[in-house]
Amino acid sequence: MIPARSQPKSGWLELFPKLWRWPKLLCLCIALLSKRARDGLIRTPELLRAVWLMRRRFFGSHTSLGNRLQDAAAQASPPPPNPEHQLSRGHGRAVAAFAVPSYAAGAREAYTRRYVADLARVQSMLPPESRWIDTHCHLESILYRTWPGGKRPRVMDNEEPMDLLALVESWPPGLEACICNIAFQRLSESWGRMSEWEWLTETLPVLQPGTLLGSKIWFTIGIHPSDADRWGSDAERHMCSLLSHPRCVGIGECGLDFSFDHKGNEADLQLRAFRAQASLAVETGKALVVHARQAEQLCFQVLSETVPPDHPIHVHCYSDSLEHALQLCDVWENLRIGFTGCITFALEDKGKSKGRGSKGRGKSRDRPEHFAALVQGLPLSRLLIETDGPYMCPEPFRGQTAHPGHVHRVAERIAQLKGVPLATVMAVTRESCRTVYGI
Ligand SMILES: [Zn+2]
Repeated sequence: MIPARSQPKSGWLELFPKLWRWPKLLCLCIALLSKRARDGLIRTPELLRAVWLMRRRFFGSHTSLGNRLQDAAAQASPPPPNPEHQLSRGHGRAVAAFAVPSYAAGAREAYTRRYVADLARVQSMLPPESRWIDTHCHLESILYRTWPGGKRPRVMDNEEPMDLLALVESWPPGLEACICNIAFQRLSESWGRMSEWEWLTETLPVLQPGTLLGSKIWFTIGIHPSDADRWGSDAERHMCSLLSHPRCVGIGECGLDFSFDHKGNEADLQLRAFRAQASLAVETGKALVVHARQAEQLCFQVLSETVPPDHPIHVHCYSDSLEHALQLCDVWENLRIGFTGCITFALEDKGKSKGRGSKGRGKSRDRPEHFAALVQGLPLSRLLIETDGPYMCPEPFRGQTAHPGHVHRVAERIAQLKGVPLATVMAVTRESCRTVYGI
């Protein structure tokens, strides 16, 4: 690590000419600049200034081109002092990792401009009375960035920190509400401030009737399959105490996830927790939110044994086979299939999950053509839109923290794949939300 005090204080662009003696680093700098320029995250005057400074170092004297670049650079505002400049060392080689307020401020503005423009665009495509709901998200992880991408510089530097009220106020007028899944008793990530269950306890007092937050947020309570070892009588008691809350609309997400390698008796623990929560949903008349991955037969078996055909079910973030989805729809008339930002990803993307220990992800079932076949093969009346924010942010916002304000992009992709107007998708999926959750 190069000590911070040894760094220049005259602005990040001044670093580039100082690196001219090391061609590899110079290439890295040029590649970095080009990428930022392509992404629209660096302003043209800044780019010209960087090019000018590097060119002067290489060639030493002014040319007519140089004079023109110098003139352009002179018109650009000088970068502000940058005492927080950091350089870090990775894998034994010097790698520049810039955490620069002036750069981040520009990117933040670009992100905000793009989001605001997108909301104006989608609202202009819809009749004023059009309403929609993000039927599945995780507000604790959205606000505290407790997701794998949440600690990356592009999130920390480029996205405005928000409290819950500011987040809700940033949503488009047509977004009627979100359903926040509270499914983890443990911290979502090690840097989390509290678990989802603890976050709900802290947040419930502000969900008062007649307030903005009290009208925009619904919740479900459950134990995620990744947290299945937490299931027990204490968890069940606590869940039951929350089911009577007027904003509670379901149990889950719960289910079976066999897309990751299991240790010991983890599969048995998942089965036990899923069966118990499915039974509780039936007993209490609450919607059941199912998280199922690569466990088609077992999932069908548990549902068949515990849930009657008229019970409302949301199978969220669906990525299994079309045959299985159709089979589920055949048996449970009030079952709906939820799709997330995954269905918006471009053809060259390999998939949404490349985590350690995963198996079979990033392959056929995460391919865009698989999602296209699913959406086209299922009736529109059986679909729900969701973000599962903060994960899988829809295009063109991919890489950012997904939140309910992005869910219209999922609806737009469904409209495109189905060849129907966006307003139709909003109306039909809104009705399905009413069928499943009663809201
Ligand atoms: Zn979820």
